[in-house]
Amino acid sequence: MNNDAFKQKLDYQLLDSLVKQTPIVIAGHAIVALINIALFWNTVSLAFVLAWATFVLITVLSRWAMKNHYQTNWQLRSPGYWRRLFAVSSLMLGLVWCIWSLYVGSAIGFDGLGLSILAITASGLVSGAVASTSSSLLSYVLFTGPTLLPLSVALLMIDQTQLQGIGALMVLFFIITLRQVLQIHSVLKQSITNGLELEEAKEQTERLAQELYEQSTMDALTSVTNRRGFDEALNDEWQRARRSGLPLTLLMIDADCFKAYNDSLGHPAGDECLKQLAATLRSRIKRAGETIARYGGEEFAVLLPNTTASEGVEVAEIIRKGVFERNIPHPASHVSDRVTVSAGVHCVSPDQMESSQTLIELADQALYQAKADGRNCVRKA
Ligand code: GH3
Ligand code: MG
Ligand code: MG
Repeated sequence: MNNDAFKQKLDYQLLDSLVKQTPIVIAGHAIVALINIALFWNTVSLAFVLAWATFVLITVLSRWAMKNHYQTNWQLRSPGYWRRLFAVSSLMLGLVWCIWSLYVGSAIGFDGLGLSILAITASGLVSGAVASTSSSLLSYVLFTGPTLLPLSVALLMIDQTQLQGIGALMVLFFIITLRQVLQIHSVLKQSITNGLELEEAKEQTERLAQELYEQSTMDALTSVTNRRGFDEALNDEWQRARRSGLPLTLLMIDADCFKAYNDSLGHPAGDECLKQLAATLRSRIKRAGETIARYGGEEFAVLLPNTTASEGVEVAEIIRKGVFERNIPHPASHVSDRVTVSAGVHCVSPDQMESSQTLIELADQALYQAKADGRNCVRKA
C-alpha cells in the first residue's frame, strides 16, 4: 500500500469511529437539552424555548442524516469532505449551547445557582465530547469552542471577581481537555495505524505463500503444472470424482523421437520445442478444472474431470493435430518431417475398483500402444 492509500484508510477509520458515536451524541444532547429546558422553564420565554428546541431538533436530525449519508456513500467522497461535513454538524451543536448559555445566562443576570447549572452543563458536554469526538480534532474544537468560550468571555467581562474566576476556570478547563484530546487522538491514530500495518503484513504473507505455492507446483521451463502439482491435482480430482461419481480421464502425451530432435538440433532447441508443445496444450485445453502438467522429460499429462473416454480421445486428437499443424521442423524423425506426439487415453468411473495409480498405468500402457502403432496417433486403454 502506498502512503496516500494508507493515509486514506487511516482517515476513513477515524471517521468510522467518529460516526459510530452518533447515537450517543444525539441522545446525550437531547437529554441535556430537556433537563435544561425543565430547569429554566420559568426563566426564559416560551417563544425562545420553542425556537431553541427547534434548532436542537434540526441539528440532531441533520447529524443523524449525515451519519446515514456517510454509511451508504462513504466511498464516493474524500475523507476531507466527510470531516468538513461532520465539523459543520459539531459547530451547529456548539452554537446550540452557545446560544442557550448566553441567552439564559443574561436572562438570570449570570447569577447564583442558574449560572452553576450553565457552567456544569457546558463542562459536562465538553467532557462527553472528549470521548465521542476525539477522532476528529476539527469537530472537537468547533463544538467545544462555542460551547465553553463565549460563556467564559461573558463571565470574564462582568465586574465580579467570583464570576471572573469561574470564567477563567472554564478557559483553563478548555485548555486541559484540548490537551487530553490531542493525546487521545494520537493514541487512537497509532492504534489504527498498527492495525492497518498488521492487516497489510498479513495480506502480504498470504500473497507470498500463494506465490510460493504456485512456484513450487509449476514447471520452470514450460510454465505448466509440474509433477508435484499433478500428483496433488490427481489426488483432488480422484476424491472429487469419487464423491460425484463422474468419470475422470487422463491423457498421457509424449513427444515422438525427441532424443533424435535433441541430437540433431541441440538441447536448447529441444527446450524451445517443449515450450511450444506446452503452449499448444494450453491453447487446446480450455475448461476450468482441467490440469495440464509436465509429467517428466518430454511427456505431458492432461487430467480431464467429468470427461468420458471418447471425449478424452477427441481432446487427445485435437492436441495431436494441433502439434502437427504447428509444423515444428524435425529433421531426424522417422515419423514425419515435423515434431509429432503420441497419446494414450484412459477413463475411469471411480466406482470401479481402481486406484489413481492404475489410471496412470493404464494411460501409460495406451501411450506405449500408440508408440508401437507407429507414433503420431492416439490410443485408448
Ligand atoms: P519416443 O518416440 O519413443 O518417445 O522416443 P524419444 O526419443 O522421444 O524417447 P526417449 O525416452 O528415448 O528420449 C526422450 C528424450 O527427451 C531424451 C531426453 O534428452 C529428452 N528430454 C527429456 N527432458 C528434456 C528437457 O527438459 N529438455 C530437452 N531438450 N530434452 C529433454
Ligand atoms: Mg518421447
Ligand atoms: Mg518419454
